[in-house]
Amino acid sequence: MGKVLIIGCGGVASVAIHKCCQNSDVFEEICIASRTVSKCEALKEKLQPTTKTKITTAQVDADHVDELIALIKKEQPDLVLNLALPYQDLTIMDACLATGVHYVDTANYEPEDTAKFEYKWQWAYRERFEKAGITALLGSGFDPGVTSVFSAYALKHYFDEINYIDILDCNAGDHGYPFATNFNPEINIREVSAKGSYWENGHWVETEPMEIKRVYNFPEIGEKDMYLLHHEEIESLALNIPGIKRIRFFMTFGESYLTHLKCLENVGMTSIEPIMYEGKEIIPLQFLKAVLPDPSSLGPRTKGKTNIGCIFIGKKDGKEKKLYIYNVCDHESCYKEVGSQAVAYTTGVPAMIGAMMLLTGTWKKAGVYNIEEFDPDPFMEALNKWGLPWVVEENPTLVD
Ligand code: NDP
Repeated sequence: MGKVLIIGCGGVASVAIHKCCQNSDVFEEICIASRTVSKCEALKEKLQPTTKTKITTAQVDADHVDELIALIKKEQPDLVLNLALPYQDLTIMDACLATGVHYVDTANYEPEDTAKFEYKWQWAYRERFEKAGITALLGSGFDPGVTSVFSAYALKHYFDEINYIDILDCNAGDHGYPFATNFNPEINIREVSAKGSYWENGHWVETEPMEIKRVYNFPEIGEKDMYLLHHEEIESLALNIPGIKRIRFFMTFGESYLTHLKCLENVGMTSIEPIMYEGKEIIPLQFLKAVLPDPSSLGPRTKGKTNIGCIFIGKKDGKEKKLYIYNVCDHESCYKEVGSQAVAYTTGVPAMIGAMMLLTGTWKKAGVYNIEEFDPDPFMEALNKWGLPWVVEENPTLVD
């Protein structure tokens, strides 16, 4: 059906690429392009004998719009799937605009030097994408992504009005290391060491990092501590779910992870302020990334499950209604299937599905859209088919 240019070849991209290769009728051709081309070539070598999808590779530095434009012109894809880092979102969107090609990503733009992620930069492209007749689909991972689609689905099928959403992200996987991050350490640590915030009655309420803690008994996992974080889908859901009064996001963290993080923070290792080291400027967080285990090495060691979903409270036919929609994913099964653990899997599968929605024309509107702005039904169906089945639970236990 079409050709996709995939930018980035890390943990999430590897899963998305495996999934595209399982879905050759839609993904007839893919070009994997990244900064380190050897990673793209290694993946091609592994996957080409197993799939009808034609795989090519290329080297690109996605910080440079001109390089991206030249690559898109050469490869002529129908769509660019951005699975590099949030820092590259705008350069890749610029290149898509210049060449008239659809765009999909999994995380919103974040300037490298401020650790502040919000949609304003990407939403500023709305009119230009509309005029060019192309689509930018923002946030097609799990959270944002599936959690946003769950919200649209709950609204469409179960509620007249949703007033409260709690997004719960539980990773009960154990990799056996005292401290490691499940995806890009730099992005992960920037996210968890930032101030928390939630949306209430039309404005943001800010908290200290990890200030708000709750305990929740997760289906198929059990009781875990979870902490309120700022998370990007809150910003778009606050606009796209009418009648919303509050949206919070909680993520589980074990004690060992938090103790290590606190210690690293206290000694300045999580800072993104450059320092001089032996006559050279380095960024402590980037140095820390270099000494931590590579997230892609965690796959074979990780046991246990993830459970990510949303609890909704709202109204149906004038009565209060509560609903929980979640997915449970098993680290070891993911590793067996695609050679990655569940955190990369739960992001890579929806990235493939988002690309499929645009390639097949199932989702079709020019402009820049967050994922909950499209019809959730075909995406929900695809989740069941492609490895992330979901459960709808009526009257769940609520988070206080
Ligand atoms: P990784 O660090 O594993 O992979 C990033 C890839 O991007 C690497 O292949 C890297 O290349 C490449 N890259 C980085 N900079 C450039 C550049 N300038 N030009 C070209 N390629 C570049 O990250 P993950 O796979 O863990 O994460 C990928 C994305 O997914 C991130 O944006 C992350 O925020 C997002 N994410 C979203 C989630 C969701 O649920 N929505 C959950 C988890 C992640 P190299 O090999 O040379 O370093």
